Amino acid sequence: MIHYVDSHAHIPICKESVGDIIEEAVENHFDRIMNVGYDLASSEASLHLAKTFEWIDASFGIHPHYLNMYEKEIDTFLQTQRVHKEYRAVGEIGMDTVKSQTDLSLQRLCFTQQVDFAIKHQYPIIVHNREADEEVYEVLKQFPGIRGVMHCYSSDRKMAEKYLNIGLFLSFSGNITYKRSSELREVVKMVPIDRLLLETDCPYLTPLPYRGKTLNRPVYVKEVYKEAATLKNISLEVLSERLMKNYYTLFLGG
Ligand SMILES: [Zn+2]
Repeated sequence: MIHYVDSHAHIPICKESVGDIIEEAVENHFDRIMNVGYDLASSEASLHLAKTFEWIDASFGIHPHYLNMYEKEIDTFLQTQRVHKEYRAVGEIGMDTVKSQTDLSLQRLCFTQQVDFAIKHQYPIIVHNREADEEVYEVLKQFPGIRGVMHCYSSDRKMAEKYLNIGLFLSFSGNITYKRSSELREVVKMVPIDRLLLETDCPYLTPLPYRGKTLNRPVYVKEVYKEAATLKNISLEVLSERLMKNYYTLFLGG
């Protein structure tokens, strides 16, 4: 029996109801799902899910698109949320030079602030990086011993080596199934199996063969597993064991 984990999902904004998604995930042998926050409301929604379902984990943080808060407000947000033990990570946080309206220096400031908070309180981080490799790496390398994951990894091999060298996990989404992603598939091949995670990032990035037909949801992580198993030349059984172990190592204290 193959068991699944989805290392990055946004269940409350998927097309199907939370109830349907949960039921489908249970039927398909999902052991854990990390439901990721990106602003105040979505972090609280993640918390609510994690409080309702023991096998769902939550993260909290402010994504670069939603930095309409002042530095002080972000600190208040982090400090007030930290009391909830269901939060297993800080994220998604990071930098984005493509889609964010937010000024880059403010992005850098708020990203640094949240990484600093995560380190102080021993949370792993979930990093959003959209064509901001230089900026993101500059921030991360200031924090030796940092734990975390580069979510929806889409950069090149050279950057992958740099992130791996500072101890991070790389998580790949449905985009590894896309035709144009041949370079990214090469990166999947080179990532050590003990630093690999897979995710949907649902409702975005629906993998093939469902792309263009429906929005993404956790069950489609199976397609990402299949692709990764082929690329790593290992069985689905072995892959699923490893991914489970990696998930526990990063988010649940081993
Ligand atoms: Zn996300």
